[in-house]
Amino acid sequence: MSLVEEITRLESEALERIGQADSLESVGELHVQYLGRKGSLVAILRQLGKLPPEEKKIVGARANQARVRLESEFKTAQARFETDEGGSVFDPTLPGTAQRAGTVHIINQVMGEICQTFYGMGFQISQGPHVETDYFNFESLNFPPDHPARDMQDTFFVEGGRLLRTHTTPVQTRELANSKPPIKILAPGKTFRNEAISTRAHVSFHQVDGFLVDEGVTMADLKGCLVAFCRSFFGEELKLKWRPSYFPFTEPSAEVDISCFLCKGKGCQLCKYSGWLEILGCGMIDPAVLEMAGHDPEKYTGYAFGIGVERVAMLKYKINDIRLFFNNNVRFLRQFF
Ligand SMILES: [Zn+2]
Repeated sequence: MSLVEEITRLESEALERIGQADSLESVGELHVQYLGRKGSLVAILRQLGKLPPEEKKIVGARANQARVRLESEFKTAQARFETDEGGSVFDPTLPGTAQRAGTVHIINQVMGEICQTFYGMGFQISQGPHVETDYFNFESLNFPPDHPARDMQDTFFVEGGRLLRTHTTPVQTRELANSKPPIKILAPGKTFRNEAISTRAHVSFHQVDGFLVDEGVTMADLKGCLVAFCRSFFGEELKLKWRPSYFPFTEPSAEVDISCFLCKGKGCQLCKYSGWLEILGCGMIDPAVLEMAGHDPEKYTGYAFGIGVERVAMLKYKINDIRLFFNNNVRFLRQFF
């Protein structure tokens, strides 16, 4: 038998025995037996010296090939037993699999930021039910039955004469009916309107309502409060513009515009080249609302305001479609950490 044949026989014998090995120890023993310093392969290589140079080259190459093949098989067999024996191949220095943490939704972030600003001015947070009675959503806020102002807010009605609240303002009359002035409340939350969904409107959106009732509250207090909020939220150099408006539950009523924070009032795409952005509605609480809640309108006055969360989020982050907030596209949401 030539040396090359002997190496081939040795190799296939070793492979077969590695395949049959039933423990880590037996794999180790086989390694010593075939590839160790006194192993079978070394014994064959010792005979190389007697060979002529041409043959030496061929046998040497074959022996090396067999050694590499067997080393690799031994490694595989070792790994097999090490894994079976309770994960001792675990390597703590390997990098782990990254887990992406979830984030707070952009709407909740903005709502939280608005609340934080007013919280610093002494407002307390209060919340009410999503399914409201007609009384709290409309009547207590000076929308009598059949009043045309009800058409300003397209409503989803549910069974039992109830409805999905069209604004968070009912929290105001719920609090008014149950507390004594001074009352200083912020009502953040979800609202619902039966509107056609478009880039600007959605059937569900978020609002932060705020109000203060006490003796001697004036429109100057309202103005100071809203100027402080707008500057803290959008930037210190803002100008505010007050336009007369109409809401059934405030008299007088106003809408507040801020000078465009992007172009500083010079005119750009965001402000549609007007230099101004509509931000919120507000006013002095109508005496009829105070009276219905059981407070003497001769003694107490109050102000109220309502901020559309999606509206200010769209302005602040230059988002051009309200639907992006709600269709759960993770690539969109991940932008806002
Ligand atoms: Zn602008």
